[in-house]
Amino acid sequence: MQSSTCLRLQNIVNRKIIARFKYSLSTDVASSRLKLAAILYCSGYIHAAVRVLEDVERRYHSKVKAVCGCRRIPEDRDLEMFADMLPGHSDQGFIEPQFAFCVTFVRAERHCTPLIFLFEMNRNIDASEVDQRTYTEKEWMDFAEVDARPFLHYLQYLTFRRLGERSKQQLSLSCLEYYICDNRNKINLYHRETAYNLLGHCCEMEGEYNRAFYFYTESLRLCCKRNNAANWHVLLLVWRLLKGPFHRF
Ligand SMILES: [Zn+2]
Repeated sequence: MQSSTCLRLQNIVNRKIIARFKYSLSTDVASSRLKLAAILYCSGYIHAAVRVLEDVERRYHSKVKAVCGCRRIPEDRDLEMFADMLPGHSDQGFIEPQFAFCVTFVRAERHCTPLIFLFEMNRNIDASEVDQRTYTEKEWMDFAEVDARPFLHYLQYLTFRRLGERSKQQLSLSCLEYYICDNRNKINLYHRETAYNLLGHCCEMEGEYNRAFYFYTESLRLCCKRNNAANWHVLLLVWRLLKGPFHRF
Protein backbone atom coordinates (compact mmCIF):
# COMPACT_ATOMS: atom_id res chain seq x y z
CA MET A 1 0.00 0.00 0.00
CA GLN A 2 2.92 2.34 0.74
CA SER A 3 4.40 1.49 -2.66
CA SER A 4 1.07 2.29 -4.29
CA THR A 5 0.92 5.65 -2.51
CA CYS A 6 4.47 6.44 -3.69
CA LEU A 7 3.55 5.65 -7.29
CA ARG A 8 0.29 7.61 -7.07
CA LEU A 9 2.26 10.64 -5.91
CA GLN A 10 4.80 9.95 -8.71
CA ASN A 11 7.55 9.35 -6.18
CA ILE A 12 10.17 6.63 -6.48
CA VAL A 13 9.48 3.48 -4.49
CA ASN A 14 12.34 3.57 -2.01
CA ARG A 15 14.64 0.82 -0.72
CA LYS A 16 13.06 0.90 2.72
CA ILE A 17 9.67 -0.17 1.37
CA ILE A 18 11.16 -2.86 -0.87
CA ALA A 19 13.30 -4.18 2.03
CA ARG A 20 10.16 -4.84 4.08
CA PHE A 21 9.27 -7.64 1.68
CA LYS A 22 11.92 -9.83 3.29
CA TYR A 23 9.51 -10.44 6.19
CA SER A 24 6.89 -11.98 3.90
CA LEU A 25 8.97 -13.95 1.42
CA SER A 26 8.92 -17.17 3.43
CA THR A 27 5.10 -17.28 3.51
CA ASP A 28 5.01 -19.48 0.41
CA VAL A 29 7.01 -20.01 -2.77
CA ALA A 30 5.39 -17.40 -4.97
CA SER A 31 2.71 -14.93 -3.87
CA SER A 32 4.82 -12.35 -2.00
CA ARG A 33 7.58 -12.55 -4.59
CA LEU A 34 5.06 -12.00 -7.38
CA LYS A 35 3.69 -8.98 -5.59
CA LEU A 36 7.23 -7.65 -5.25
CA ALA A 37 7.81 -8.27 -8.97
CA ALA A 38 4.60 -6.38 -9.79
CA ILE A 39 5.74 -3.39 -7.73
CA LEU A 40 9.16 -3.42 -9.42
CA TYR A 41 7.49 -3.64 -12.85
CA CYS A 42 5.10 -0.78 -12.12
CA SER A 43 7.99 1.29 -10.72
CA GLY A 44 10.01 0.83 -13.91
CA TYR A 45 12.63 -1.50 -12.42
CA ILE A 46 12.10 -4.02 -15.22
CA HIS A 47 15.41 -5.89 -14.94
CA ALA A 48 14.91 -6.31 -11.19
CA ALA A 49 11.38 -7.62 -11.85
CA VAL A 50 12.82 -10.18 -14.31
CA ARG A 51 15.26 -11.40 -11.63
CA VAL A 52 12.47 -11.88 -9.09
CA LEU A 53 10.33 -13.71 -11.66
CA GLU A 54 13.24 -16.04 -12.50
CA ASP A 55 13.50 -16.83 -8.80
CA VAL A 56 9.77 -17.63 -8.59
CA GLU A 57 9.96 -19.87 -11.68
CA ARG A 58 12.87 -21.78 -10.15
CA ARG A 59 11.01 -22.39 -6.88
CA TYR A 60 7.64 -23.20 -8.47
CA HIS A 61 8.33 -26.84 -9.40
CA SER A 62 5.68 -29.37 -10.39
CA LYS A 63 4.99 -30.51 -6.82
CA VAL A 64 4.02 -27.06 -5.55
CA LYS A 65 0.36 -26.98 -4.51
CA ALA A 66 -1.78 -23.95 -5.30
CA VAL A 67 -3.87 -22.84 -2.33
CA CYS A 68 -6.85 -20.51 -2.41
CA GLY A 69 -8.49 -18.99 0.65
CA CYS A 70 -11.80 -18.15 -1.01
CA ARG A 71 -12.67 -20.87 -3.52
CA ARG A 72 -12.88 -24.64 -3.65
CA ILE A 73 -12.79 -26.74 -6.79
CA PRO A 74 -14.55 -30.13 -6.97
CA GLU A 75 -11.43 -32.00 -8.09
CA ASP A 76 -9.36 -30.63 -5.24
CA ARG A 77 -7.69 -33.37 -3.22
CA ASP A 78 -5.79 -31.34 -0.66
CA LEU A 79 -4.79 -34.24 1.59
CA GLU A 80 -3.43 -36.35 -1.26
CA MET A 81 -1.62 -33.37 -2.73
CA PHE A 82 -0.08 -32.32 0.55
CA ALA A 83 0.97 -35.91 1.27
CA ASP A 84 2.73 -36.02 -2.08
CA MET A 85 4.80 -32.91 -1.43
CA LEU A 86 8.54 -33.11 -1.41
CA PRO A 87 10.41 -31.43 1.43
CA GLY A 88 12.02 -28.29 0.09
CA HIS A 89 15.00 -26.23 1.11
CA SER A 90 15.45 -22.54 0.49
CA ASP A 91 18.77 -20.86 -0.17
CA GLN A 92 18.96 -20.06 3.54
CA GLY A 93 18.79 -23.76 4.37
CA PHE A 94 15.40 -23.95 6.07
CA ILE A 95 12.35 -25.82 4.92
CA GLU A 96 10.24 -23.77 2.57
CA PRO A 97 6.46 -24.36 2.36
CA GLN A 98 5.71 -26.16 -0.91
CA PHE A 99 2.57 -24.28 -1.71
CA ALA A 100 1.61 -21.08 -3.47
CA PHE A 101 -1.21 -18.82 -2.39
CA CYS A 102 -3.20 -16.82 -4.89
CA VAL A 103 -1.98 -13.25 -5.34
CA THR A 104 -4.45 -10.66 -4.11
CA PHE A 105 -4.39 -6.92 -4.73
CA VAL A 106 -6.71 -4.69 -2.73
CA ARG A 107 -7.83 -1.35 -4.11
CA ALA A 108 -5.32 0.55 -1.98
CA GLU A 109 -2.60 -1.26 -3.98
CA ARG A 110 -4.01 -0.34 -7.39
CA HIS A 111 -1.04 1.80 -8.44
CA CYS A 112 1.35 -1.12 -8.11
CA THR A 113 -0.62 -3.65 -10.12
CA PRO A 114 -0.66 -4.19 -13.87
CA LEU A 115 -3.61 -2.17 -15.15
CA ILE A 116 -5.65 -5.21 -16.16
CA PHE A 117 -6.33 -5.87 -12.48
CA LEU A 118 -8.35 -2.67 -12.23
CA PHE A 119 -10.98 -4.53 -14.28
CA GLU A 120 -10.83 -7.44 -11.82
CA MET A 121 -11.48 -4.99 -8.98
CA ASN A 122 -14.60 -3.81 -10.84
CA ARG A 123 -16.04 -7.06 -12.19
CA ASN A 124 -19.67 -6.04 -12.32
CA ILE A 125 -21.14 -4.16 -15.28
CA ASP A 126 -24.01 -2.82 -13.16
CA ALA A 127 -25.13 -2.81 -9.53
CA SER A 128 -27.55 -5.73 -10.02
CA GLU A 129 -24.59 -8.09 -10.43
CA VAL A 130 -23.23 -7.09 -7.03
CA ASP A 131 -26.57 -8.11 -5.48
CA GLN A 132 -26.14 -11.60 -6.96
CA ARG A 133 -22.85 -12.24 -5.17
CA THR A 134 -22.84 -14.77 -2.38
CA TYR A 135 -21.60 -13.83 1.07
CA THR A 136 -18.19 -15.38 0.34
CA GLU A 137 -17.91 -13.65 -3.04
CA LYS A 138 -18.65 -10.30 -1.41
CA GLU A 139 -15.59 -10.91 0.77
CA TRP A 140 -13.16 -10.95 -2.16
CA MET A 141 -14.74 -9.78 -5.43
CA ASP A 142 -13.77 -6.14 -4.92
CA PHE A 143 -10.16 -7.29 -4.85
CA ALA A 144 -8.17 -8.63 -7.75
CA GLU A 145 -7.26 -12.25 -7.11
CA VAL A 146 -5.31 -14.50 -9.44
CA ASP A 147 -3.60 -17.89 -9.25
CA ALA A 148 0.14 -17.53 -8.80
CA ARG A 149 1.29 -19.56 -11.81
CA PRO A 150 -0.72 -17.76 -14.52
CA PHE A 151 0.27 -14.45 -12.93
CA LEU A 152 3.94 -15.46 -13.10
CA HIS A 153 3.75 -16.04 -16.86
CA TYR A 154 1.63 -12.93 -17.44
CA LEU A 155 4.19 -10.77 -15.60
CA GLN A 156 7.01 -12.43 -17.55
CA TYR A 157 5.16 -11.58 -20.77
CA LEU A 158 4.83 -7.91 -19.71
CA THR A 159 8.44 -7.54 -18.58
CA PHE A 160 9.94 -9.13 -21.72
CA ARG A 161 7.60 -7.01 -23.84
CA ARG A 162 8.89 -3.89 -22.09
CA LEU A 163 12.47 -5.04 -22.66
CA GLY A 164 11.80 -5.84 -26.33
CA GLU A 165 12.90 -9.46 -25.88
CA ARG A 166 10.49 -10.92 -28.38
CA SER A 167 11.40 -14.62 -28.21
CA LYS A 168 11.17 -14.69 -24.39
CA GLN A 169 7.91 -12.76 -24.58
CA GLN A 170 6.43 -15.37 -26.95
CA LEU A 171 7.71 -18.20 -24.75
CA SER A 172 5.97 -16.64 -21.73
CA LEU A 173 2.72 -16.46 -23.69
CA SER A 174 3.06 -20.13 -24.72
CA CYS A 175 3.66 -21.13 -21.07
CA LEU A 176 0.62 -19.11 -19.98
CA GLU A 177 -1.61 -20.72 -22.62
CA TYR A 178 -0.30 -24.21 -21.90
CA TYR A 179 -0.84 -23.86 -18.17
CA ILE A 180 -4.40 -22.60 -18.53
CA CYS A 181 -5.59 -24.81 -21.37
CA ASP A 182 -3.99 -28.12 -20.37
CA ASN A 183 -6.57 -30.11 -18.42
CA ARG A 184 -3.90 -31.65 -16.23
CA ASN A 185 -3.52 -28.28 -14.49
CA LYS A 186 -7.23 -28.02 -13.72
CA ILE A 187 -6.65 -29.06 -10.13
CA ASN A 188 -4.31 -26.14 -9.54
CA LEU A 189 -6.42 -23.36 -11.05
CA TYR A 190 -8.90 -21.62 -8.76
CA HIS A 191 -9.52 -18.37 -10.63
CA ARG A 192 -9.99 -19.79 -14.09
CA GLU A 193 -11.93 -16.81 -15.44
CA THR A 194 -9.20 -14.36 -14.42
CA ALA A 195 -6.53 -16.60 -15.96
CA TYR A 196 -8.45 -16.63 -19.27
CA ASN A 197 -8.77 -12.85 -19.08
CA LEU A 198 -4.99 -12.50 -18.70
CA LEU A 199 -4.49 -14.80 -21.68
CA GLY A 200 -7.01 -12.84 -23.75
CA HIS A 201 -5.27 -9.59 -22.86
CA CYS A 202 -1.91 -10.97 -24.02
CA CYS A 203 -3.56 -11.90 -27.35
CA GLU A 204 -4.89 -8.35 -27.60
CA MET A 205 -1.37 -7.00 -27.05
CA GLU A 206 -0.24 -9.36 -29.84
CA GLY A 207 -2.92 -7.86 -32.11
CA GLU A 208 -4.65 -11.26 -32.29
CA TYR A 209 -8.15 -9.99 -31.64
CA ASN A 210 -10.01 -13.14 -32.71
CA ARG A 211 -8.04 -15.23 -30.25
CA ALA A 212 -8.52 -12.60 -27.55
CA PHE A 213 -12.27 -12.72 -28.15
CA TYR A 214 -12.19 -16.53 -27.99
CA PHE A 215 -10.44 -16.56 -24.59
CA TYR A 216 -12.73 -13.88 -23.12
CA THR A 217 -15.79 -15.86 -24.22
CA GLU A 218 -14.23 -19.04 -22.82
CA SER A 219 -13.86 -17.17 -19.53
CA LEU A 220 -17.58 -16.36 -19.63
CA ARG A 221 -18.62 -19.83 -20.83
CA LEU A 222 -16.54 -21.92 -18.46
CA CYS A 223 -16.79 -19.82 -15.33
CA CYS A 224 -19.26 -17.08 -14.56
CA LYS A 225 -21.23 -14.87 -16.91
CA ARG A 226 -21.85 -12.24 -14.26
CA ASN A 227 -19.29 -10.56 -12.02
CA ASN A 228 -16.64 -11.45 -14.57
CA ALA A 229 -14.23 -8.80 -15.88
CA ALA A 230 -14.37 -10.59 -19.26
CA ASN A 231 -17.59 -8.63 -19.93
CA TRP A 232 -15.56 -5.39 -19.82
CA HIS A 233 -12.85 -6.87 -22.05
CA VAL A 234 -15.37 -8.01 -24.67
CA LEU A 235 -17.02 -4.57 -24.69
CA LEU A 236 -13.65 -2.82 -25.04
CA LEU A 237 -12.53 -5.23 -27.75
CA VAL A 238 -15.70 -4.63 -29.76
CA TRP A 239 -15.24 -0.88 -29.26
CA ARG A 240 -11.63 -1.18 -30.40
CA LEU A 241 -12.63 -3.05 -33.55
CA LEU A 242 -15.42 -0.59 -34.36
CA LYS A 243 -13.56 2.62 -33.58
CA GLY A 244 -9.97 1.68 -34.32
CA PRO A 245 -7.00 1.62 -31.96
CA PHE A 246 -7.18 3.56 -28.74
CA HIS A 247 -4.77 3.94 -25.88
CA ARG A 248 -3.52 0.68 -24.46
CA PHE A 249 -4.54 -0.20 -20.95
ZN1 LIG B 1 -7.79 -17.56 -4.76
